[in-house]
Amino acid sequence: LLVLGIETSCDETGAAVVDDRGNVLGEALHSQKLVHLKHGGIVPTVAQQLHRDHIEDVVQGALDRAGLRLQDVSAIAATVKPGLALCLQIGVEYAKKLVKQSGKPFIPVHHMEAHALTARMMENIEFPFLVFLLSGGHCLLAVARGVGDFLLLGSTTDEAPGVVFDQVARKLKLKHHPACRTLSGGQAIEVLATTGDSQAFKLTVPMARYANCDFSFAGHKNQTYRLIDKKEKEEGIPADSDQIVSCVNDIAASFQRTATQHLMQRLHRAILYCQQRHIIPEHNKTLVLSGGVASNMYIRRSLQAVTDRFGYQLVCPPPRLCTDNGVMIAWAGMEWLKEGRGIAEDPEAVEFQPRCPLGVDMSTDVLNAG
Ligand code: ATP
Ligand code: FE
Ligand code: MG
Repeated sequence: LLVLGIETSCDETGAAVVDDRGNVLGEALHSQKLVHLKHGGIVPTVAQQLHRDHIEDVVQGALDRAGLRLQDVSAIAATVKPGLALCLQIGVEYAKKLVKQSGKPFIPVHHMEAHALTARMMENIEFPFLVFLLSGGHCLLAVARGVGDFLLLGSTTDEAPGVVFDQVARKLKLKHHPACRTLSGGQAIEVLATTGDSQAFKLTVPMARYANCDFSFAGHKNQTYRLIDKKEKEEGIPADSDQIVSCVNDIAASFQRTATQHLMQRLHRAILYCQQRHIIPEHNKTLVLSGGVASNMYIRRSLQAVTDRFGYQLVCPPPRLCTDNGVMIAWAGMEWLKEGRGIAEDPEAVEFQPRCPLGVDMSTDVLNAG
């Protein structure tokens, strides 16, 4: 079996062909990250145009590298939810066109589900397992019980950690820091934090008194903003200058530590909940950690301390599979195909869905469970 996967939900145009054993036969990716950096964020119309400009080359590139023609694949999978409407539209329309042209089955894929399933491509991870997704656009804890069968334990009530790391980095003017010029905001904070004092500033861990798995980062961001404003004022630095406060490393470290404590508390809660409700069997304790933010080693080590304590195995896909890509969509399609499910009866009728939570919402039960 071979599946061609297409991803366009956000800011990468990705395509790949995978086989049923998890081998990647061919892959192509076009990232819009640098363009969006110049705009200070993703402008949907700009993203849509870039997907439109690149989708054909990306899909052809994946097929070429695999040495295959469209006729050789068993099915075509594409991200149909959730994501930016204008972006999803391009991938879904293109996939439908290929489906019509080739007569191949169409498998609509849930982007977050694909992130979660990617870990099963490299390792023999059995259902059910715990999933922690930390990215620029998402933050969630879920249980993967099967293909298309997820329990959502909690998710962010406001912003996602990746964007908040990026925004704090911007507020700290890290673009102008000699050690950070080529790094993403999140990477810049991680690098500076390694030589900072994480206890230098007392920041409040979000929602610490709520025993659920929901997240909040907006308050933490604002508190960090206020700290930066205060320090700039003390040092006589105008907010619109390129000058960076002297305690930048300490601020980065304190910000990162507090955000991480929030993540640790939520993971702790999720593990206890699964234990209490007997959701994950003793012999199968696995946490899959993915998303761009999961490449932060401080965060990873901290979460590992929690999983170690409860005897969970921690699985992190390699960084290139943690961020958005075509491989994860192809593999998710393959998971459906192997089970003989998930094929759209009427491909033409498939519509993209900008919003679509992952699985059954368990947040109330998480809060109520002792
Ligand atoms: P999605 O659409 O899946 O939400 P995204 O494209 O917004 O994804 P990713 O590509 O998964 O996000 O990851 C990018 C984000 O990860 C950025 O916000 C970036 O700052 C953050 N990031 C990358 N490396 C690190 C790091 N070392 N520490 C913290 N954050 C990081
Ligand atoms: Fe993603
Ligand atoms: Mg992305």
